[in-house]
Amino acid sequence: VTVDLLVTGARFADGSEGSVAISGDRIVSVGADAVDAADAAEAAEVVDAGGRLVTPGLVDCHTHLVFGGDRAAEYEQRLAGASYEEIARAGGGIMSTVRRTRAAGEDELHDAAASRLAALASSGVATVEIKSGYGLDLDTELAMLRVARRLQTTTGVRVVTTFLGAHTVPEEWAGRADEYIDFVCSTVLPAVASEGLADAVDVFCDRVAFTPAQAERVLRAAASFGLPVKLHADQLSEFGATALAARHRALSADHLEHADEAAVAALAGAGTVAVLLPGAAYMLADSARPPVAALRAAGVPMAVATDANPGTSPLLSLPLAMHMACRLFGLTPLEALDGATVHAAAALGLGGEVGVLAAGAAADLVIWDAASPAELVYWLGRNLCHAIVRKGSVVS
Ligand SMILES: [Zn+2]
Repeated sequence: VTVDLLVTGARFADGSEGSVAISGDRIVSVGADAVDAADAAEAAEVVDAGGRLVTPGLVDCHTHLVFGGDRAAEYEQRLAGASYEEIARAGGGIMSTVRRTRAAGEDELHDAAASRLAALASSGVATVEIKSGYGLDLDTELAMLRVARRLQTTTGVRVVTTFLGAHTVPEEWAGRADEYIDFVCSTVLPAVASEGLADAVDVFCDRVAFTPAQAERVLRAAASFGLPVKLHADQLSEFGATALAARHRALSADHLEHADEAAVAALAGAGTVAVLLPGAAYMLADSARPPVAALRAAGVPMAVATDANPGTSPLLSLPLAMHMACRLFGLTPLEALDGATVHAAAALGLGGEVGVLAAGAAADLVIWDAASPAELVYWLGRNLCHAIVRKGSVVS
């Protein structure tokens, strides 16, 4: 076997030590006997990890990275005690982001998102999911997804796209949510599908967005185009959204702050990944917690993501999200690491391809200035990336 890159002196998350051998953009072997001495001697490039922790490149499986403007001024109002309703009446909230996104050109959207994606990538993220959902009209939804696709080329980070046309009812459709769902299913989604712009379809199913019946129409339409589905589920109230995700064998059900035990059992039966988003709970100072103990007991895989978005989670470090998942939601450090790698990959339908150090997987890995997963989630605000390998190349 030709070894183009050999990472030696690696300490893996389970405490074992060894090497990772890479050929082209693929891992060819991992562990104490990753390569024999002859192949090691002929490796084109050798990087000594020096006993540092080596993990798969991180996978951020839930973000809204493409948007116009920001909501820092709104956050300042919230810190001063303004309510969500007061902010919305003053022209803030999600519709302010929709207006800014519609007004921005594609280059402007791209450049702002590329800067945010660079921050995420420097925190160890090699694969990112990016949703639409701030256009809420045909042209801007398509533009957001084109920008997301373009980011893969311009940044080198693997990008998975999700169509979230049913994010909220835009103001020009106020009071006509069912008609807006008609528009999403019969006009926007077919255009997205015909241009191949989305890898999956998501719906925000909650009391401030769409009912389970409305969400189900979008899920059915997605299935008719052969697209897998996921849901923003039960973030603000128990709304039947997690059970709906399970019924449709969704790739993931995301948020789950108000999911009940019956919904957890349904997820387990469906093989759906639970995606935990502690940044939003932190930013909103929301005391509701996803049912982690029940998810763990039922064997539901738990992913951890940033939910990077301008309103409720302006979080651009996946290790910091992992810290929050431990501190706020009660995950162990190893669960948080699995949540940002192997389970996040499954939430994107990329299990075995990314988020794992194994022969045949993509050659994405991070060498950390840390000795263990515990140290990774322990430091706050310290970038622990020592070196990053993406697609078989050392990028930093
Ligand atoms: Zn979200």
